[in-house]
Amino acid sequence: MFRTLFAALLAVSALEGAEDGLERADERLKMVREQIERRGIEDALTLKAMRTVPRHLFVPKNLQRYAYDDRPLSIGHGQTISQPYIVAYMTELLRPKPGMRVLEVGTGSGYQAAVLAETGADVFSIEIVDALARSSKKAVREAGYDRVQLRSGDGYFGWEAAGPFDAIIVTAAAQSIPPPLIKQLHEDGRLIIPVGPPLGTQYLILVTKKDGKASTRRLIPVRFVPFTRRDTP
Ligand code: SAH
Repeated sequence: MFRTLFAALLAVSALEGAEDGLERADERLKMVREQIERRGIEDALTLKAMRTVPRHLFVPKNLQRYAYDDRPLSIGHGQTISQPYIVAYMTELLRPKPGMRVLEVGTGSGYQAAVLAETGADVFSIEIVDALARSSKKAVREAGYDRVQLRSGDGYFGWEAAGPFDAIIVTAAAQSIPPPLIKQLHEDGRLIIPVGPPLGTQYLILVTKKDGKASTRRLIPVRFVPFTRRDTP
C-alpha cells in the first residue's frame, strides 16, 4: 500500500516536471513573433531555441511575471539578463550549429548559455561573480541543460583547455577586446563582444578570423553591464 502511494507520488512529480517545460509556452511564442521575428531574426535554430528555453526559470522569483517582456531584467549583484531580442540577435550572429564549440564570458543568469545549448552547441561559460556562478549552475541544470560546462573566474583569459572555439560571445561591455579570446578563436570562427565605456555608447563588435588574421565589424549600439577583472583566471 505504501509502495503504491509512493509510486503514485513519483508519477505526479514526474508529470509536474514535464509540465514545467511547457509552462508559459504561449508567452514564448508571442515573444518570438512580436519581439524577435518582427525585428528580422530568421535563423531557424535560434528561433526554435528562443521558443523552447523557459526564460522565467532564469530570473529571480519576484520578476518571473515579467520574464517574457521586451526588456532586460535585474538578476541581482548589479547584473542583468539581456532583453530577449539581444539574446536572439547575438545567437544568430554566431551561426549556431549542432556540435559547435562555444565559449561564453559572463554566464549571469545562465539563460544565454541555455539558448546556445538548445541549438545543439557544446557550451563553456565563465562567470566572475561567484554567487551568480552558483545560481546559474542550478538554473541551467534545472532547465535540463546538463551538458553546459560552467565555471567561476575571470573570462578575460578565456578557457584555454577547452578551446579553440568556433564561436565566442562576451555579454559584458569591455574597453577593448581581450587578446586571449582572439587567440582562442578557431580559424573561420566568430566572436561577438560589446565594446565601449561603462556609461557611454557601446557597440556590438563582430570579430572574424581568416588565415590567422582577425578583422572587426561594428554592429548595433547596445547597453551592457561592465566587464570586470580579477588578477587570476
Ligand atoms: N549572458 C548573461 C548576461 C549576464 S550580464 C545572461 O544570459 O543572463 C553579464 C555578466 O558578465 C555578469 O553576470 C557579470 O558578472 C559577468 N562578467 C563581467 N566581467 C566578467 C569577466 N571578466 N569574466 C566573466 N564574467 C564577467
